[in-house]
Amino acid sequence: MGYTGTYLHDQMPNLLEHELSEVWSASSLRSLVDMKKSQVLTHNSECSECDMFTICGAGCRAYALTESGSLLAKDPFACEVWKGCYRKQFDDIVAGCHQKGGIDPCKK
Ligand code: SF4
Repeated sequence: MGYTGTYLHDQMPNLLEHELSEVWSASSLRSLVDMKKSQVLTHNSECSECDMFTICGAGCRAYALTESGSLLAKDPFACEVWKGCYRKQFDDIVAGCHQKGGIDPCKK
């Protein structure tokens, strides 16, 4: 997980200053580590009904917290990517491959 540029970044313990075992057992962010996707789904009806959830997973927890104040919220940036431009680009690639007669992974 990358938290750079998010609210969580400043709260992450520095492993150069603390033992991993100490951080693992005492971190205030333990709830983040233990969080299950099912909890996020229960909290977000939009995600629970979304056909992109298996690949998106409601996005990054750090961005969800930064943008909404809740670790259980959806990540608005991931949502925009998966529902928006990524989906369209993927559909365009597939359509282009079908027009060319299929996908040949060895062809450049
Ligand atoms: S694309 Fe949006 S609605 Fe769908 S799972 Fe991701 S965050 Fe949730």
